[in-house]
Amino acid sequence: MMPVSDINAVVGGLLRDLAFAQTAQPKMFGYKRAAAAVLALDTPLTELITAEGALPKIAGIGPGSARVIQETLETGASPTVERAIDESDRRSDIERRRALRAHFLSRAEVLRVLRDRSMSGPALSDYAGDLQMHSEWSDGNPTVEEIAGACQARGYAYAAVTDHSHGLKIAGGMSMEEAAEQRHAIEHLNAMTDSFRLLQGIEANIGADGELDLSPDEARVFELVLAAPHSRLRRSEDQTERLIAAIQNPAVRILAHPRGRITGSRAGVVADWDRVFTTAADSGVAVEIDGDPARQDLDYALASSALAAGCLFALDSDAHTTEQLSYAETAIAHARLAGIPADRIVNYWPLDRLVDWLSDPHREARTFVQRQERAW
Ligand SMILES: [Zn+2]
Repeated sequence: MMPVSDINAVVGGLLRDLAFAQTAQPKMFGYKRAAAAVLALDTPLTELITAEGALPKIAGIGPGSARVIQETLETGASPTVERAIDESDRRSDIERRRALRAHFLSRAEVLRVLRDRSMSGPALSDYAGDLQMHSEWSDGNPTVEEIAGACQARGYAYAAVTDHSHGLKIAGGMSMEEAAEQRHAIEHLNAMTDSFRLLQGIEANIGADGELDLSPDEARVFELVLAAPHSRLRRSEDQTERLIAAIQNPAVRILAHPRGRITGSRAGVVADWDRVFTTAADSGVAVEIDGDPARQDLDYALASSALAAGCLFALDSDAHTTEQLSYAETAIAHARLAGIPADRIVNYWPLDRLVDWLSDPHREARTFVQRQERAW
């Protein structure tokens, strides 16, 4: 793992601090927009600034935000932001939010990591398919036809549409009747091409005790079951047993956004991650690196521990629009920083190996143990 000096992430964070130091709503939203604009830039601010120290016009960046950028580029800190925090009496809340920004990458840093040839990790060009995304059948926008088209345009050999299951009403969870209709639409698409395969997956919700909102019979309907936590994400008590119960459910193949963290907002599930990862490795269940910029969950630091435990990985976009399929690149960047070999990442396998693993995850778990024994 290499240290990351990510100037756009630093500036984006400071602009968010400035937003939370505001009392007037329009100003708060303005600085939040500026933060989002900086985090989404393709280029580091250090390369955008001219030799004279001038900043080009960036959409969403007003004079107040430009001052923060200038200060940070010159000195590594922003007195403007610190003064605003001191005057706001919100320092403790802002410090708490700062602590929840660790190991998040800006878009510019993601692109730099993808280009960095000194890293041996997985390449964007070898990524074969995305295994978490949402369609109009739950809380996403696109139709399954639009998803298939956009995935083929990105050069994927396969993908899985993974709408929310019926227990998660807040995210438009799909009933089993709707799932049957969706399956028809997917099979119709697959009948039209040999070069791309859309799998019908489901993102099942992990309940308080680790149970899923799908019965074993319901889970069998789907070609891929992800399990993910969407509640109890701001608790300080240990939830190791909850995650282990979900991993040990025989239907589950991927533990998706394992913590449920959100940048600058919530830390997500507290757990003994070594135990969680060892259980996943023994079960042949992949742990996900969710590439949604607000999630980045697992991040490269925790993913390194999962790699040491012998885990398989899934690198997914968690897209809710076809444009957001590019979020898979965030996940690939974290995997490169963690040094995960492509062979350990299910999205880098050919379709037949993926399908074999879906039918018997223990096969890959055992293969890995055997390989390790041989190496010793
Ligand atoms: Zn989710």
